[in-house]
Amino acid sequence: MAEAADGIIIAGAGQAAAQLAQSLRAGGYAGPVTMVGDEAFPPYERPPLSKDYLSGKRQVERLFLRPPAFWAEKQVELRLGRRVAGVDRLARRVVLDDSTALPYAKLVWAAGGRPRRLSCPGTDLAGIHHIRSIADIDGLKAGLVLPERRVVIVGGGYIGLESAAVLRSGGHHVTVLETQDRLLARVTASPVPQFLLNLHRGHGVDVRLSTGVEGLTGGDGQVAGVRLSTGELLPADLVVVGIGIIPNVEPLAAAGLACPDGVQVDEYCRTSDPDILAIGDCALHPSRFAPVPVRLESVQNAIDQAKCAAGTILGQAEPYTAMPWFWSDQYAVKMQTAGLSIGHDTQIVRGAVGVPPFSVVYLRDGRVIALDCLSCPRDFMQGRALVTGAVAVNPIRLADPTVELKALVPA
Ligand SMILES: Cc1cc2nc3c(=O)[nH]c(=O)nc-3n(C[C@H](O)[C@H](O)[C@H](O)COP(=O)(O)OP(=O)(O)OC[C@H]3O[C@@H](n4cnc5c(N)ncnc54)[C@H](O)[C@@H]3O)c2cc1C
Repeated sequence: MAEAADGIIIAGAGQAAAQLAQSLRAGGYAGPVTMVGDEAFPPYERPPLSKDYLSGKRQVERLFLRPPAFWAEKQVELRLGRRVAGVDRLARRVVLDDSTALPYAKLVWAAGGRPRRLSCPGTDLAGIHHIRSIADIDGLKAGLVLPERRVVIVGGGYIGLESAAVLRSGGHHVTVLETQDRLLARVTASPVPQFLLNLHRGHGVDVRLSTGVEGLTGGDGQVAGVRLSTGELLPADLVVVGIGIIPNVEPLAAAGLACPDGVQVDEYCRTSDPDILAIGDCALHPSRFAPVPVRLESVQNAIDQAKCAAGTILGQAEPYTAMPWFWSDQYAVKMQTAGLSIGHDTQIVRGAVGVPPFSVVYLRDGRVIALDCLSCPRDFMQGRALVTGAVAVNPIRLADPTVELKALVPA
């Protein structure tokens, strides 16, 4: 176990950090635990930001993972509004952006990522928004007080599509731009992107595939239009950019740790420095569900890696083997994904594509590696065991939606 004297510093105060602090205390760690977070809020959940918080159905206090008093009760010190700016590995201390130095026995890096920005002309105009934090959404909502705003969303991934669904449902005119020839290009290659395309178009969203952004135009410092790669100029009152994140790992990279895309960790969440671990969106880790190391951006990964890191610190190391899963809400459709479809060679659809409930099952060498379930919670619940066990299945039975997936799980 880490020396209690200097305690544990957690860089970041998000989903993974919150779970780590709780797991350390639940596991009996009695030394100092300090969470340093550069936002103004105690740990909160991000999924509602592009769903119920954006739509106004949920208030800010209901985003908090725990009431603020919980952290004091657990003797977890929160240093909010402060950033870890440097890591001195030799002295085993971090330096904050106000020059405070904090010693550590173990440092856990849980700093997530920041939104990738557009790099075209005009990005300094007002009215350009990102979707990562409470502050981002508050800023976006302030621009949406007038009805029927013309919103151009750059990026047809989960964040862009969830935002499109909320804004369209709120009566705004929404255009989604995607440079690839399908939606969700980064995560899934199957009938799912086509289903989502039809879903959004059916709700009146103008989705443009294979379309990039050349520049943003405006007057009086305010964005007024988006110049497309096709040459067209789209009028816009607001632009929402959802083109992925950049992992927040610069202080670790400056301290000499390998950070090719996130900080590299092993299956125990350890970096190459035995006193520094990394978890959550910023951790590039080996996964038994992927042929190459992956960096996953999901609540499941943040929570399960935090539990794994706590075990490592507490001297009860268990490798990280949790099955990745994810969800997304768009209009009335709930999409649930289990496993990672990277490297699949076969797809089998259960049900009628485009008419939820239906599921797509991904196989490699005859074994189930992932599922996408569209408003089909039963397949999601039952199919997880097929993914975890990489079960070899009879494709004819698998394709029959009247055969429950639990019937395909070996006894
Ligand atoms: C809009 C949105 C919707 C999402 N929807 C879903 C969903 O439906 N399902 C799902 O599974 N996942 C979803 N996710 C992903 C999920 O929220 C993330 O995977 C999860 O929050 C990752 O947790 P984390 O602790 O690694 O990072 P974060 O929650 O991002 O926390 C990291 C914190 O560290 C801070 N920080 C960064 N650098 C420093 C530093 N140097 N010093 C101090 N603090 C620092 C950051 O500002 C941030 O507050 C969504 C994410 C977003 C943004």
